[in-house]
Amino acid sequence: MEYDVIIIGAGINGCCSAYTLAQAGLNVALIDQNGIASGGSGAAGAFISPKISKAGELKKIMSQAHTEALTFYTTRFPQFTLTKPLLHIANSPQESEKLEHYKRETTLQHSNIDNELKSLLTSDASADSYIYFSEGAVVDAQGVCNAMAEGIDFYPLKVEKLIHRDGEWQVGDLRAKHLVLTIGAYPKLLPIDYVGLRGIWGHRIDCETSTHIPCILHHHVSISPTSNTGIVAIGATHNVHYSPFSGEVYDLEQGRAQLLEKASKTLKLNNIKITNDYTGLRSGSNDYLPMLGSLVDAEATLQKYPHLRHGERVNPSEYTYYPNLTMINGSGGYGFVLAPYLAKRLGEWLVEGKELNPALSPSRFFPRWAKRQS
Ligand SMILES: Cc1cc2nc3c(=O)[nH]c(=O)nc-3n(C[C@H](O)[C@H](O)[C@H](O)COP(=O)(O)OP(=O)(O)OC[C@H]3O[C@@H](n4cnc5c(N)ncnc54)[C@H](O)[C@@H]3O)c2cc1C
Repeated sequence: MEYDVIIIGAGINGCCSAYTLAQAGLNVALIDQNGIASGGSGAAGAFISPKISKAGELKKIMSQAHTEALTFYTTRFPQFTLTKPLLHIANSPQESEKLEHYKRETTLQHSNIDNELKSLLTSDASADSYIYFSEGAVVDAQGVCNAMAEGIDFYPLKVEKLIHRDGEWQVGDLRAKHLVLTIGAYPKLLPIDYVGLRGIWGHRIDCETSTHIPCILHHHVSISPTSNTGIVAIGATHNVHYSPFSGEVYDLEQGRAQLLEKASKTLKLNNIKITNDYTGLRSGSNDYLPMLGSLVDAEATLQKYPHLRHGERVNPSEYTYYPNLTMINGSGGYGFVLAPYLAKRLGEWLVEGKELNPALSPSRFFPRWAKRQS
């Protein structure tokens, strides 16, 4: 089968890319070893919340991505998007300082909380700095991924090896000029050790509770508003030590206890009953910026410029790249916020030839790695 693009990995990045490229008129094949939204994306609470950060490239990108994501989900997938106000409470003195700074700078609409909402909070939570945004959103992670993949040719395959021959990428019987890798925290399929990624294990739960939550809450943990079916989602843990690839069994009870203990610092949840657990890996980059761009062929580039091993500076445009191969990864805990932004730029690049932002290129990690190879 011949396609314009093959996408490997059907999490939010793969599904959103497939949706965006298909909308732009490309013929897309989407592949996943375990089905749609079976990785980190299927576990996500999928809050579309702004990142509280100080100045810099990360803040600029996150802020634009957040604005684009709110519009994207509420207009394209309203049936999977719940919009409610969002209360973000600082969980440490450092965060409080960042939050106060953010509050002075942000153009997002925010206000003070009323007494009714205040009365729900613990005394500690109501004493901390906060920002109360008029608009926040939470999407149904699995619902939205499946809706994006509707009408796209989907292949349930575990890709073991990538082959580029006669100007095309080949995966089994599938052929395409372009390949997009959206494989999250899974083994990388190519010798790209320079790509600085780490898996961060997360656990979230769905609960029934007689306490009605009127808005999105972020504090020591995130708590969703009560859904139409009376469910409240609480998530997520951050565990950099556990890996599902290690063979070790994950302690679900410990994760549950941790989540409930953290939630209790924000408010008291009455008559609580856990109805579902979701676990998965986020894939975070070492500098917290997401990755969108071509991948350097490390061996070919080191052969061409052996002095890179001694710290020689080479313009990244001179590196050898795998042909027509793009990676999207490294979104950490903001995959659902970033996916529409990244997929849009991917489409503009593949369809219109618009340059990608070099700050997001995975090649940014290459020179430092190359220097360590001597
Ligand atoms: C518990 C938890 C809560 C989170 N909460 C939020 C939140 O509130 N808001 C937010 O924005 N983000 C949140 N995130 C982060 C977000 O889920 C991730 O950033 C996002 O899922 C990354 O998506 P992805 O498509 O890059 O990777 P994944 O969803 O991990 O998808 C990668 C896919 O690639 C497939 N794959 C890998 N290798 C192969 C192969 N060789 N062959 C075939 N298929 C392959 C896997 O099966 C997998 O389905 C959360 C994450 C977790 C774990």
